[in-house]
Amino acid sequence: MRPEQILAPKILAPMPSGLCSKAGGFHIDPTRPVDKALITHGHSDHARAGHGHVLATQETLDIMRLRYGENFAGSVQAVGYGETIDLNGVRVSFHPAGHVLGSAQIRIEHKGVRIVASGDYKDVADPTCLPFELVPCDVFITEATFGLPVFRHHDAAGEIRKLLHSVAVFPERAHLVGAYSLGKAQRVIAMLRAAGYDKTIYLHGAMEKITAYYQERGIDLGAVELVRGAKKAELAGTITICPPTAMSDLWSRRFPDPVLAFASGWMRVRARARQRGVTLPLVISDHADWDGLTKTITATGCSEVWVTHGEEEALVHWAHMQGLKAKPLAIVGYGDEEESEDPAPAEAGSEADA
Ligand SMILES: [Zn+2]
Repeated sequence: MRPEQILAPKILAPMPSGLCSKAGGFHIDPTRPVDKALITHGHSDHARAGHGHVLATQETLDIMRLRYGENFAGSVQAVGYGETIDLNGVRVSFHPAGHVLGSAQIRIEHKGVRIVASGDYKDVADPTCLPFELVPCDVFITEATFGLPVFRHHDAAGEIRKLLHSVAVFPERAHLVGAYSLGKAQRVIAMLRAAGYDKTIYLHGAMEKITAYYQERGIDLGAVELVRGAKKAELAGTITICPPTAMSDLWSRRFPDPVLAFASGWMRVRARARQRGVTLPLVISDHADWDGLTKTITATGCSEVWVTHGEEEALVHWAHMQGLKAKPLAIVGYGDEEESEDPAPAEAGSEADA
């Protein structure tokens, strides 16, 4: 038996409150209030209010403050990417996860065993955050939201071209793009700019604070404006980014004959698009797809994989086939925000920001 297979559970273990390091005296992305929390990124299923002390990147701390208010934690500490800190002899460092602005994988090292808790991640380009950094480790902790071979996200830029083509073909109609308010919305805007679209892009009010924050941090999103107050006729031929839930609301009636688009990894599944009344599904995901998950696991050189949530059994089975040790953690409470949530109409009220 390798040393990490004996030591790893002592260094970090799944508990009802999430991943807990007894030796280091901290939790990672805890699902309940704890004394000391290390937070991978600002999505509400990972970043919760009410912890005693929070360590995270500056961006994640800022995003938590925007969402939960000044007093979201007793005290906070910003940790730079690559900076190593010592918590009771456990060495901890944060590394880019490529998921949303400020997102980090957390590397933990103790007694020669290296564990990486990846939070959510993707291994493809995103103009709104630093690229995923491969961090070699003995134990890799991954999610499996899209952990089935059917999920292949392909080329996001091609999906943006599809959207722009539709805008060109239907100049008399408005285009509503459903996108989760932290990360996806800003990524779609930045990708539209990269594709040469230079007109004003309109925003639902739920996108305002986070989008302004991205701009403050130097992410170039061009001219964006709140749609509030715009006249119906003015919105012909325009693009508006909104929470997925708003597309089915009365709210969408202010637009002339809207084309409903939705940017999500779930759009690979046609039935999901139909359920939502989406006529222009855009397969754009901030999560690794099947190839991304399996390639990343292999590339870390790990001998053991822990799968937090999603299609755990399929990924665990794949890992076993590769000769890796693997186990599902079934952490309850992950997957409640952005596209890890099943975007069925029945759950339409559950988006954290809508
Ligand atoms: Zn996330």
